[in-house]
Amino acid sequence: MAQAGKGKLNYRCPSCFMRDLDIDMFYDKDKQEYYCIRCQFHGSEEDVLAGNEMVRTRYGAMHKRFTKFDFD
Ligand SMILES: [Zn+2]
Repeated sequence: MAQAGKGKLNYRCPSCFMRDLDIDMFYDKDKQEYYCIRCQFHGSEEDVLAGNEMVRTRYGAMHKRFTKFDFD
């Protein structure tokens, strides 16, 4: 079931991911931005993807799921 506020795709927050936190980002339709409910990170889909790419390059662990938080 779709959740209000969630984007089509679940992007993880690059800022949190750098701290070993695997947080799904939410999507703000008005601003057309993704944002994180844990930290101050927000940005366009492009920003998120670029951030994730940066983290992946740095850690090489994109396939790993780290700490799973359940906010639902
Ligand atoms: Zn975050």
